[in-house]
Amino acid sequence: MKSMVSFIQNIPSISRDGFSAPKYSRFHDKTCIVTGGGRGIGAAIAYRLASEGYKVVIADIDREAGMYREKMLREKGYEATFVKTDVSRENDVVRLMDEVFSRYGSIDVLINNAGIGFSGKPLEEQSIDEWRRVIDVNLTGPYLCSKHAVKYMKKRGGVIINIASTRAFQSEPNTEPYSASKGGLIALTHALAISLAPYKIRVLAVSPGWIDTCEWQVPPCKSELTHLDHLQHPAGRVGKPEDVAALVAFLASDEAQWMTGVNIIIDGGITKKMIYIDEDVIENSIELLLQDRELAKLFRELLEHAKRNKESTKDILKRISIIN
Ligand code: NAD
Repeated sequence: MKSMVSFIQNIPSISRDGFSAPKYSRFHDKTCIVTGGGRGIGAAIAYRLASEGYKVVIADIDREAGMYREKMLREKGYEATFVKTDVSRENDVVRLMDEVFSRYGSIDVLINNAGIGFSGKPLEEQSIDEWRRVIDVNLTGPYLCSKHAVKYMKKRGGVIINIASTRAFQSEPNTEPYSASKGGLIALTHALAISLAPYKIRVLAVSPGWIDTCEWQVPPCKSELTHLDHLQHPAGRVGKPEDVAALVAFLASDEAQWMTGVNIIIDGGITKKMIYIDEDVIENSIELLLQDRELAKLFRELLEHAKRNKESTKDILKRISIIN
């Protein structure tokens, strides 16, 4: 009953003067665990949450990356600890949760971010061990981490955020294990949200699109993105780990207290883009590729001319001796 009262007190109320917003703080004296927080998106999330006052635990399989990130955060004056963990191993996960609770006295936020990609072999060449490793890390890992964090999280509620992917909804060829792991993670999210709601634990998924993680690697690498990579996104650029971190920080905060069980896509709008190949798309693509508006226009005129005269573009190019 006591917890219900404090919950109700946080609900925005309508007064005679109109809407009065609740006063939320974005400085959190809480503990969070970021799996795979040594580098990439997880590192940016760890940094963002540390800067908001969280005590951050970086749980990563890679000792070098984990130590590097712990040092970086401590040098900024933040509280951070690295615990070497393979999220697919239950013993590692149990030890992680016990260590974090005994060190900080609470587990308030868990970010299930650790994940591995897949090399993109054709279906018939994919081995069952490759399939299992991707599922073990990307899906079983978040399941194990959630299961063993809940024992401590239950005491005062909390938030679990699963980093899924737009690959849960659309694919390039030969990516079965990865897509399946991320689709499963989104289903796991709503299952956990319903099971854990009585303990005031919210569970959410975030699905990033294309994120360039170069600046957050160990050591940082140089981005090799092209103009075309950026411009094909309605938002005008490829994503950055900081974009994902900002969303995670909001979802983990009390400002998102009415959100649970859902998946949020953060992808610069690219999965909302309808793609039909027509003259417009070809003209825009040529312009993007060649950085030449005039040439793109000429090419479009060529296509339209061919269409009007029911002639193939190849025959026209042959006729004007551009190709043999
Ligand atoms: P990354 O490879 O840069 O970083 C992943 C981190 O996870 C590394 O520090 C690695 O050591 C750690 N890790 C790997 N296996 C682990 C294990 N078994 N236990 C603990 N730690 C482990 O990857 P990233 O691009 O930053 O991706 C982070 C998450 O975001 C992944 O779940 C990925 O699937 C997802 N994602 C990435 C993108 C993208 O474009 N980068 C897009 C959508 C989703």
